[in-house]
Amino acid sequence: MSITLTQDVLQKFIFENAAVRGEFIDISATWREVLSRHSYPAPVKKLLGQMVGAAALLSANLKFNGSIIMQIHGDGPVQLLVVECDADLRLRATAKLAEDALIADDATLPALLNVHGKGRFIITLDPADKVPGQQPYQGIVPLDGDDVATVIENYMLRSEQLDTKLWLAADDNVSRGLLLQKLPDHGGKAGVEPLTPEEALETWNRAVILGSTLKEQELLETTVDVLMQRLFWEETIRVFDPLSPSFHCTCTREKVGNMLKMLGREEVDSVLAEQGHVGVNCDFCGQHYDYDKVDCAQLFASDEPVAALIPASDVKH
Ligand SMILES: [Zn+2]
Repeated sequence: MSITLTQDVLQKFIFENAAVRGEFIDISATWREVLSRHSYPAPVKKLLGQMVGAAALLSANLKFNGSIIMQIHGDGPVQLLVVECDADLRLRATAKLAEDALIADDATLPALLNVHGKGRFIITLDPADKVPGQQPYQGIVPLDGDDVATVIENYMLRSEQLDTKLWLAADDNVSRGLLLQKLPDHGGKAGVEPLTPEEALETWNRAVILGSTLKEQELLETTVDVLMQRLFWEETIRVFDPLSPSFHCTCTREKVGNMLKMLGREEVDSVLAEQGHVGVNCDFCGQHYDYDKVDCAQLFASDEPVAALIPASDVKH
């Protein structure tokens, strides 16, 4: 059974004693938008679909006005998985396979991305209101884990010192997930006796045990409302207004033009000489941009400075 929602939902909640916060996500509609633009082998779909869910969960979890860019750089048949999510939970995603990639139906994350132990997991936080010259924050760690959830959990512990647990599931049609996080500050509510570290730890351990009862197939087959009820019915939980993730590509003709300027006049002229025009397809949404001789001449005639490239721009357009 698969449930087809037309609108995605991200549901934040907090344990009433404030020791743990969590988020359920159903991002299936966005995920189907991504898939409608690409054709990937099943194991790649599974990983990228899980990353789409994880990127939205982390983005909603951060108090940060900007985009989060989550990347896995691989050293095997898969070279890159990338998901970008902005502060309004608008996402785009793409994967890049090696040219001669042979991918078995049951290929695991290490077999796809970490064959020689050189895979990297990268999170970039790109502020929306950057001051001139400000660089985005970037955390890069070795690919430590056999699945997407474990890689992110290890990153969060190592880089953010945050106890985070994730359960992620994705197939051709559905992407759902659960995030639980131990709150570093367990001071309790105003007028209420603060929790002792032992009480906070006990709540966290109980939440993780409940989360761990969640099986992949159950995540794929069950709506967020039902999962929430099924897992936490004995807990006192406060639920926030649901958020709505959606698909959105940030590519524009202007950005593609800037990318051509970065490539340089020589390179662009050689493509023009060969093909009579320069065609560029967006790797994320498939949008086609075309530049004829006049367009290219205008690009290089303009005095406007080249806009700084966003970190994910090593994804070649
Ligand atoms: Zn695009």
